[in-house]
Amino acid sequence: MDVTIVGGGVCGLALAHELASDHHVTVLESSPGPRGDGYMIDFFGPGFFAAERMGVIEELRSRGHAFEGVRYGLPDGTQSGTIDVAPLVKAAGGRYFSILRPEVELGLLAQLPASVDLRYGARVVGVRDIGTASGVRDAGAASGVRDAGIASGVRDADTAAGAGPNRDLGREGAAVEIEGGEVLESDLVIACDGVRSPVREHVAPGHGAILPMGYRAASYLFEDPQFAGELGERMLMTDTVERVGWLYAADAARVGVMFSERVDPAITERPTADRARLQTEFAGLHPQIDQALSHAPESFYDDLVAQSVAPRWSRGRVVLAGDAAHAPSLLAGQGTSLAIAGAEALARSLRAAGPHIDVGLAEYERRWRPTVERTQRSGRLSASAFIPATPLQLRVQQVARRAIGLPGVSRLVSRQFIAA
Ligand SMILES: Cc1cc2nc3c(=O)[nH]c(=O)nc-3n(C[C@H](O)[C@H](O)[C@H](O)COP(=O)(O)OP(=O)(O)OC[C@H]3O[C@@H](n4cnc5c(N)ncnc54)[C@H](O)[C@@H]3O)c2cc1C
Repeated sequence: MDVTIVGGGVCGLALAHELASDHHVTVLESSPGPRGDGYMIDFFGPGFFAAERMGVIEELRSRGHAFEGVRYGLPDGTQSGTIDVAPLVKAAGGRYFSILRPEVELGLLAQLPASVDLRYGARVVGVRDIGTASGVRDAGAASGVRDAGIASGVRDADTAAGAGPNRDLGREGAAVEIEGGEVLESDLVIACDGVRSPVREHVAPGHGAILPMGYRAASYLFEDPQFAGELGERMLMTDTVERVGWLYAADAARVGVMFSERVDPAITERPTADRARLQTEFAGLHPQIDQALSHAPESFYDDLVAQSVAPRWSRGRVVLAGDAAHAPSLLAGQGTSLAIAGAEALARSLRAAGPHIDVGLAEYERRWRPTVERTQRSGRLSASAFIPATPLQLRVQQVARRAIGLPGVSRLVSRQFIAA
């Protein structure tokens, strides 16, 4: 069948990898090339096992990084504690490494079958169902997408469907409209367009918005081999209240930095990255963070920390996957892992269902939903403690950290973290 994937991020590329041997796959990605936005992720859990089955784990591991752990730093530059990563790696049976998010995309790209039609610079601005015989099945759905904001410039559903190249096939499927006017019809549209997916509103009306967790995060990478050398194999995390900075050597030449702060959880609008604001708000957390702030670029990743939830993942021949369906947020630290494992789960269910696509979509959701809901719950549970709100909370965390350093406690906590 013809499959159109909206979004060529981690989930979209993993799906294309898995579907390419059985189907004609087109991936539409709005950015002009692989996205360089970088932050270091911990890769473990279901995605690790899925990547092993997909045969891409060695490619990813070769691009990964093994940190010794985290050192905590106070505003005056002194160290207030450390945590080692070794117990976590052990609890995960060795299936754990760190990797820059863009390297996951590049690793999947390196393994992408040549038959996949991957189109960069292709922004999808509308999606709609098409029926078996009489054309548009659900014009209301198309207007739902328009309401969700995907469809600036989406044409009338009848016009767009009539313009499709496969219109005469009379098949059931879905159509996407690409910015510029091209309409692509296919048997199945898979939306892997991230946590702010406008397609989610089409599939599950009323659930298009993100669920903010009360934090905002920003990150960027910069070249500085000397600084990278000084940082060594331990990540720095500031031991501070209300806002926190992380700093690490991404490789021998590059330094990565990430910032997070508490914000009003009622706000859902994407913030605008503002270098001057970042440099002011996060100054004074730690001398090395101040050094990293002086490298802040004009444009960088900056968004709310959020989950996405949809009571249904498919509607007709449009299905959600990855963060579009079930973003757990960085608090759960498994978004990439779930995006890869979810992609594999969807591909597997479709393969087993053969021509019965609806059965495959239902089976995907039945099997995969319990895992993501567990991870999302654990993300929500850790939300209040992610960044200490008061000096007292900070003190409690420092004491707890010392306890984690004890051998028995360390083993237990590591096992719980990996299982979450
Ligand atoms: C700061 C931070 C730290 C994180 N740390 C971790 C971690 O430690 N471990 C972990 O596992 N995960 C982590 N994550 C989460 C992880 O990055 C995401 O969950 C994961 O990348 C989801 O992949 P995805 O493909 O579903 O979505 P995305 O990566 O968001 O990809 C969506 C793609 O769709 C494209 N797109 C969007 N709209 C359109 C459109 N209309 N038309 C065409 N293309 C479109 C976008 O350009 C993008 O390429 C972290 C996230 C953040 C922000």
